[in-house]
Amino acid sequence: MPELPEVEVTRRGIEPYVAGRYIQCVEVRAAALRWPVPAGLPALLASQRVDKVERRGKYLLFETARGWFIVHLGMTGTLRVLRHVAEPPAKHDHIDWVFDAFTLRFRDPRRFGAVLWHPREAGDVLAHPLLAQLGVEPFAPEFTGALMYRRTRGRKVSIKQVLLAGDVVVGVGNIYASESLFHAGIRPATPAGRISQARYERLAEAVRQTLAAAIEKGGSTLRDFIGSDGAAGYFQLDYFAYDRAGLPCRVCGALIKQIVQGQRSTYFCSHCQR
Ligand SMILES: [Zn+2]
Repeated sequence: MPELPEVEVTRRGIEPYVAGRYIQCVEVRAAALRWPVPAGLPALLASQRVDKVERRGKYLLFETARGWFIVHLGMTGTLRVLRHVAEPPAKHDHIDWVFDAFTLRFRDPRRFGAVLWHPREAGDVLAHPLLAQLGVEPFAPEFTGALMYRRTRGRKVSIKQVLLAGDVVVGVGNIYASESLFHAGIRPATPAGRISQARYERLAEAVRQTLAAAIEKGGSTLRDFIGSDGAAGYFQLDYFAYDRAGLPCRVCGALIKQIVQGQRSTYFCSHCQR
């Protein structure tokens, strides 16, 4: 499943192509995604210029004068820029945005992705019901240890679950939760309400650094967005905890442990994380 770094790298990969360019037409071959693709989308977007591409959580926001089309990659979605319009769509290529010199193509075998529309008359896109409830962005100045501390007082749920829930901070999925907690030295099962502000300051910094490292790593795969078979998989970081059960900790040599929280695997070092 694409996590925030993959979505951000997708944004950086395609924005230089589409920003400032005019959509000639939109071809929807399969509208039955997680939610139906709006039937009026091709008419709304014909001859519209994409002004910019932004990201909120894992949603990509393509702004035009009439409003925004919103893309979520779901579990298996990819967006690619095809220079040669003539390339015929394959089985799971559900939507094309045809520009003058290239096509932006959405492929999604499992169809948990989404393409939605937010008209300008409805106000800013960040007020969209799917976006309004999201936690803060990890790279926004509002994301601080103090915020995490404040938002977790009285909460008995584990800090790992708080990170995954996305209502305090967005974009920390299963891999990056394990990694961030390792770098912050916090044991994943610790009740969120019992962590001090100083430790949350370390965690906020670890979240930022972990995500930034993944985005930087993904930057070297930008070419994958151009061409026919570029699928954005996970960026293979040198993980410290994630998926290393039974292997020696890279810091202290103790064996990395694996537990299950909320039906997801968590990995940690019982020596480095307290
Ligand atoms: Zn260790």
